[in-house]
This record gives sequence, C-alpha cells and structure tokens, in this order.
Amino acid sequence: MNEELSSAYRPETFRQQGHALIDMLADQMAASYGAEQDRTIPWQSPEESFRFWNQFADTNPKLTELLGEVIRRSIRISDPRFIGHQICTPAPDTILASLVADFANNGNGVFEMGIAGVAMEKHVLDVIAHQMGMEKTAGGVMTSGGTLGNLTALLCARSIKAPEDVWRHGQSGRLALMVSEQAHYCIERAVGIMGWGTEGIIRVPTNDRFQMRVDQMPGLLDDARRAGKQVIAVVGSACTTSTGSFDDLTAIAQFCKANDLWFHVDAAHGGALAFSPTFRHRLAGIELADSVVIDFHKMLMTPVLASAVIMRRAEDGFQTFRQQADYLFEQAEDLNWHDLAQRTFECTKSMMALKIYTLLAVRGSELLAANVDQLMQTTQKLVSLIDPRPDLELAVRPDCNIVCFRYTGCSPDQRCKINAEIRKRMIESGEYYIVQTKLHDETWLRCTVTNPMTTANELSGMLDQVELLAKTLSRV
Ligand SMILES: *Cc1c(COP(=O)(O)O)cnc(C)c1O
Repeated sequence: MNEELSSAYRPETFRQQGHALIDMLADQMAASYGAEQDRTIPWQSPEESFRFWNQFADTNPKLTELLGEVIRRSIRISDPRFIGHQICTPAPDTILASLVADFANNGNGVFEMGIAGVAMEKHVLDVIAHQMGMEKTAGGVMTSGGTLGNLTALLCARSIKAPEDVWRHGQSGRLALMVSEQAHYCIERAVGIMGWGTEGIIRVPTNDRFQMRVDQMPGLLDDARRAGKQVIAVVGSACTTSTGSFDDLTAIAQFCKANDLWFHVDAAHGGALAFSPTFRHRLAGIELADSVVIDFHKMLMTPVLASAVIMRRAEDGFQTFRQQADYLFEQAEDLNWHDLAQRTFECTKSMMALKIYTLLAVRGSELLAANVDQLMQTTQKLVSLIDPRPDLELAVRPDCNIVCFRYTGCSPDQRCKINAEIRKRMIESGEYYIVQTKLHDETWLRCTVTNPMTTANELSGMLDQVELLAKTLSRV
C-alpha cells in the first residue's frame, strides 16, 4: 500500500479527528439549542455557494477545517428559530448511531450483508405496525424516503389490483387512482413513473379544512369508470404536507372496501402521531389501510433518510417486484422476510433502521410520544400568538405541527406578492427560517414546529419580524 493510502486508513488519526469533531459538534449543538448565533440560515445564492465550495476544494483543507466550514455554511436545523420545513432536530443518540451505520457500512438489501440491520428493521416495522393498530400479519420494508416508499406501495397496489400482469406484459388498460387535490406531489410522480399518464390521477376536491371530500368519491369513481378507466386505488393523506390536514381514513377505508380498491395511506408526516396516546385518534382508520408510508425523519427525531412502507398483510409486499434476481436469493420462490431486496427497489441499502431502533431501545417509545406532544403543544402556542394579531390570518386551525398563515393588512391584490416578499427577505436576513406554500393559488407563509426546543419566545420574535417586514413592504 502506498503511503498516502495507508495514511487515509490510520485508526489513530480517526481517533484524534473524531474526538475533535465530536467536541466541535457538541459546541455547535449547545449554541444552536440556545439560539446563540445571529442566524439560523446563513443564506448564500446558489452561485455564491458554488463559487465558495468550488474554490475551497483546491485549498487542501484539513478534515476538521472542512467539516467546520460545512457546519458554518448549513442551515441550523437544531436552532429553535428553525420553523420551516418538516425535517426534525435529530436526537444526539441517533447522530451517533448514524456514524456507526456508516462505520459498519453493511448493505441492508439482503440478510447475508445485513445480519444486524435487517433484523433491526423487522423489529422497527413490527413496533410501528403495532402502534398503528395493525395485526401481527403486518410487515414491510424501510426505504430511503417517503417518496420512494409511496412509489413502492403503489407498485404493490398495481401488482395486486390491476386486471393484467403489467410486470410481464406491459400495460394496455387505463389504470388510475384517486387522491386528494392536496396530496404530496410524489403521488403524482409515482403515477407518472408507472406510466398511467395525467388521466391516471383523479383529484378529489377538499373541504375548508383541506380534507379529501369522501362524499364526492362515489360520483368521481362512477365518472372514471364510465370514461373507461380502471380505478384500482385510493390514497389518503395523514397528514397533508401543506396544511397538516388528516383525511377521514375510516370513511375512505369503507369506500375502498365497498369498491374493491387498494387503500394506501401517505402518513409520511403524521404517522408519528401513532406513538402519542393523546393524538393517535387523528389516525383512526389507518389500521384498515392495505399499505402505509411513514417517515422517521419528520416528527420522530431521526436524521434523514429513514422511512417505512408497512403492508397490512406482509405477504402483499412480495408481489411488488416479481422478477427474481437469482444470484441474491437462494430459493427464488421463498418469501423470506429477511431478503429485503425482494420487496424494495433499493439494492445496496443503508442500515437506516439503526437510527430509530436506537431511540426505541435506549429511550423507549414514550420519548417519541413526548416529542410529538411537545411539538403539538408548541404549535397551539403559535396559533394563540397569531390569533390576537389583527393583520395575520390562519389558513386553517392546525391538526398537526404545520401552520399556514399570512399577512392581510394590505389590499387583497397585493397579498400574494407581499407575503412572498416577506418570506424572501426573512430567508436572506436569516434569523428565522420559515417557508411558504400555495393554497388555492394564493401564497401563504408556512411553519413546521419541528424542534422541541422552540418556545413562545422564538415564535413571537418570528411573528414580529413578519409584521415589521409587512409594514415596510406595504408602505412602498
Ligand atoms: C415529506 C412527505 C413526503 C415525501 O417524503 P420524503 O421522505 O421527503 O421523500 C410524502 N408525503 C407527505 C405527505 C410528506 O409530508
């Protein structure tokens, strides 16, 4: 081995750098939790950022110098003023677990390569299925993200419900599914990837709480069938990404049963409520779903990416990818829970179960309940701070940790422009991180309370800044 190569693999160097790095991260963690830095988001334009990193690569930096720069130039998710996207503040235990997953570097697609990780994955899935009220017959796989999870579940629905064997013969019929007009865009992409075309997605309108109008579904199904479509599935949202609205899963389940449709629940965000005795009723009916997707990296304290697809009947999952890779599976016809690659798109798969397994084993599921309850409580605090401000308006009273609101102290035709400009300036100044969304073509400011350290202080500060910017902008 040449000198450079052997130096790259030296355990003593790893030890020294590792200690220094953990010290740096712990300092950063403390500063973030205490909102001690002037900014949550060190904003740079894409060009500025590229220029920096492009040049930095040539400076031959030391490892800790490089990683320090990454921390300085990244959004501080752990800052209580991060009230933006749905990604969580990872619990420190899970960050260390991730390090070990990378150290072990076992592929988790097949048992032989993932002796620990694959078994942990089954444990995690069993726990989740149980929390969701499913029977012991349930089971599933973990995927790198909810987007891939939803595609996996819908491919399974197609294998089981489509009248033809699409996998072998391609598709001749016009398959379709029904989904809320507020559903996450990955459902539309999954339909596109499956080749159903834009007419393969039947959008169900929502009520004033942004919940799917189940009462409209029989009529929409009749229309679709009359038009020659083969509707095979309904996707419920628990909750929606934009407003955190929970569809009536029990009603959708009844509709699916009566019409022989696959019932999939996209619970990427809100599936976490299954851990909370106080809030799990919002998921009532999820136990009736044929398949469910949940993200651990949203409300469950886990770093990206860790998601799961759960099938109410575990064996359904083996229908998703029927073609066999004989070199991976000794007996291709065996349905082995431990050969995960039979049921998921991914071949080399990370040891993602370890992150959530660590929390469940070391801290217990009560910790996850406490986190969900804390985030929900802080969200209600945010509502109580918005309510008395006459120039701010809520889109809907939140049922989860997502809040949409806007400034209304300007003429209605200025609203979208001013709210979008408020959000742009907030990002650029960087103290608070919030996002925006479109609801019925209008621009709203959007917050996800995702850090258990966020308090009324940060929330009031953020709202003050919104109002201050709004007043400045309304004057010009
Ligand atoms: C976040 C989200 C997704 C996408 O999940 P990723 O893990 O980001 O791929 C899908 N559906 C809903 C409802 C979501 O909130």
